[in-house]
Amino acid sequence: LALAGLLTLLLFINNQWHDAVSGKTFPTINPATGEVICQVAEADEADVEKAVKAARDAFRLGSPWRRMDASHRGLLLNRLANAIERDAAYLATLDNGKPYAVSYTVDIPNVVKCLRYYAGWADKWEGKTIPIDGDYFCYTRHEPIGVCGQIIPWNFPLLMQAWKLGPALATGNTVVMKVAEQTPLTALYVASLIKEVGFPEGVVNILPGMGPSAGAAIARHMDVDKVAFTGSTEVGHLIQQASGSSNLKKVTLELGGKSPNIILSDANMEDAVEQSHFALFFNQGQCCCAGSRTFVQADIYDEFVERSVERAKRRVVGNPFDLKTEQGPQVDQEQFNKILGYVSSGKREGAKLMCGGGVAADRGYFIQPTVFGDVQDNMTIAREEIFGPVMQIFKFKTVEEVLTRANDTKYGLAAAVFTKDIDKANYVSSGLRAGTVWINCYDVFGAQAPFGGYKASGTGRELGEYGLDNYTEVKTVTIKVPQKNS
Ligand code: ADP
Repeated sequence: LALAGLLTLLLFINNQWHDAVSGKTFPTINPATGEVICQVAEADEADVEKAVKAARDAFRLGSPWRRMDASHRGLLLNRLANAIERDAAYLATLDNGKPYAVSYTVDIPNVVKCLRYYAGWADKWEGKTIPIDGDYFCYTRHEPIGVCGQIIPWNFPLLMQAWKLGPALATGNTVVMKVAEQTPLTALYVASLIKEVGFPEGVVNILPGMGPSAGAAIARHMDVDKVAFTGSTEVGHLIQQASGSSNLKKVTLELGGKSPNIILSDANMEDAVEQSHFALFFNQGQCCCAGSRTFVQADIYDEFVERSVERAKRRVVGNPFDLKTEQGPQVDQEQFNKILGYVSSGKREGAKLMCGGGVAADRGYFIQPTVFGDVQDNMTIAREEIFGPVMQIFKFKTVEEVLTRANDTKYGLAAAVFTKDIDKANYVSSGLRAGTVWINCYDVFGAQAPFGGYKASGTGRELGEYGLDNYTEVKTVTIKVPQKNS
């Protein structure tokens, strides 16, 4: 680590390492201590320009990538998955602050599964033959869109990278990826593996840098064919606008949420408490789909709150490298300050602070697991995304009432319902305006199952077969034939 302090990590363009054109660097920080880990080259518009040129060249007709068999693209993705699996112990992150054990047992296995899943699709993404009228033969080809800009966040650095690379590369696109400024390290290590396993030059380019400079340069670039963004709804608006005012590049967005988690009075109490705790506190509360509005039916409300507070108090906060740790630091000073600001607003607006609410260590960005009871729908903590270990519990009486309240948000990313009654579960899940609904569970993901948002939570779906659509242009080819027969 001491040596790492002397290192500067570089930008990955055309399978080579480059200093930023400006020569600028920025520090990456260990959030558990606040100390600098190392310096990283800071990409700006000029570097985006270089990367887009490399990606465009890799996409030219007749290039090694365009000539490559689809099955071989799958093979390269499988090799990348194998290399990540081989280096899992090293890749479990340092700059994000998440517990090492979680990174090793949750993030990395899911990265590997995602890449293998999309590796399998590479030679199975088939078009159709279509019986149009007349003497014609008509078929569709699923073609890559071209140069894809991908802008990713810091909360799951490796997983968000895999969710983006998997479908883009399986379908034959090239990529310019801007990784979050808080978490460049693992993405750059994966870049070295991309080169090692044999992806041709320019197919994947990885740029650490800031959002308003490097990120915005990708979003408005005239030679980027598509942009995929995961991050805040606020920046999602900017990405969509940049597309509208440049070349109408295709846009997919995976944005914020304020997801309702509904506990009906017949639910298994122990299970509902544990799952609701997990729904909110997993990953330090830094999940776009966090169950951040826990609605509890009136007759079980008191017991549920009491048990949830007891569970939050037992949550182990501390050194991410201690295997018993459940909760590490928040990612950076900015998020830390923002979360503490929300805690103050909750207290000020009259929510009942049941536990936590303060700083959990004398250095690093640790926050105590916090639970608010008696939260009202119009409070700031009920409406805005906190992205931290702060649970909001609401009381409701009837199923109709809770459905209306659950849907009363600009977001629509995820939701959950806990009940033993299958009819109620179906009724609630079909009434919820959200892209994912979990019944008697939370945060269950599979590379095979699509994920994405209704309303201001996003556009398009990632993962699964649906995820391929966002990286595909459908070309209809019609051939005149002498005589068709049925
Ligand atoms: P958060 O608030 O959780 O950090 P952001 O939406 O700000 O989420 O960041 C997600 C990603 O978007 C990061 O890679 C960030 O650098 C990038 N980003 C931030 N602002 C912009 C912008 N104006 N244009 C393009 N990308 C941006």
